[in-house]
Amino acid sequence: MQPKQNIVHLPVYQPGKPIDEVKRELGLTEVIKLASNENPFGCSPKAKEAIAAMLDQVSIYPDGGAVELTNAVAGKLGVQPNQIIFGLGSDEVILMIARAFLTPEDETITAYPTFPQYKHNAEVEGAKVIEVPVDANGKHDLQAMLGKVNSRTKIVWICNPNNPTGTMLNEAEITAFLEAVPKNVMVVLDEAYAEYNVSGQYPDSVKLLEKHNNVVVLRTFSKIYGLASLRIGYGVGHPDVVRSINQVREPFNTTSFAQKAALAAVNDDAFIESCREANAQGIRKLTAKFVELGLPYFDAHGNFIMVDVKRDGGAVFQGLLRKGIIVRHDPSWGYPTMIRVTVGSEEQNNKFLGALEQVLSEVAVS
Ligand SMILES: *Cc1c(COP(=O)(O)O)cnc(C)c1O
Repeated sequence: MQPKQNIVHLPVYQPGKPIDEVKRELGLTEVIKLASNENPFGCSPKAKEAIAAMLDQVSIYPDGGAVELTNAVAGKLGVQPNQIIFGLGSDEVILMIARAFLTPEDETITAYPTFPQYKHNAEVEGAKVIEVPVDANGKHDLQAMLGKVNSRTKIVWICNPNNPTGTMLNEAEITAFLEAVPKNVMVVLDEAYAEYNVSGQYPDSVKLLEKHNNVVVLRTFSKIYGLASLRIGYGVGHPDVVRSINQVREPFNTTSFAQKAALAAVNDDAFIESCREANAQGIRKLTAKFVELGLPYFDAHGNFIMVDVKRDGGAVFQGLLRKGIIVRHDPSWGYPTMIRVTVGSEEQNNKFLGALEQVLSEVAVS
């Protein structure tokens, strides 16, 4: 059987290595995963209670429209409920946007390297993807991205903070970009790590929606909220745009469990605050050590840091793996000597730094 021509070249997504697999393969009893930007502190206890309280509802279909959660999140963000759409992770919102808006006649612009799902889903729809390299500091080159906009351009994807580089575009940079981009071009601001930001300069993107009908903001419960396994995220935009995305949504795309857990989590501000603070401390600790070791790194505004280990990143990844620490190194990023490490708990960070120092002494500088 013949699949669609535009998907035959697509790679199958390679996730960070699962902990159990690493334990088995290397005969280790303790393994720390700092590879997928998960929350080292788990999730709000209120979210766990919410899930436990509804175990007898397994046989009942969820509320496809996620009404209760939509109202809660809308209230929290100060937008109307018809401006929000939930997905099976924000991954699915990306998929739905591509499905609703992109055709083989369209072009779409992303940074490089960035979160792979924009390109992936655009290519499934047969759209042409223009990738614009990030600058020397790992930041989106908004000027160059703007320069690629033409009459075929349908969507520009901005990952802020950018995964994998971790860098942030501030309010002034985002605003200037939105002022310059044609109004018929959708700008997707993927803010999966928004809640981690402590810079004081992060854009208030939901507020920018008031002035810019062409903006869609993506958020997720997978990162600081610690609900990655439940798969729930959302998009916020103009009601007309959200309606179009809703038209391609599967009827029951998010589960009751995810909805209830997210509802409990979104109201637990204390948990989020403590995670944000611990993460900021972790970044200070890790970067101080990187400075001491003479390792350059990109400015980190999420819960992960991209650091230049000045040696083959694949070899350092393997060395850390043998010591039971899973980080991320992806040759397709175009940074052969960099690894991406998720900020862990204090104990995990210390173990990572100890292991890193050992591995650096074992692997030759390149
Ligand atoms: C993790 C991540 C997402 C998607 O997370 P979901 O689990 O699908 O909600 C989206 N964008 C970026 C940049 C991410 O890092």
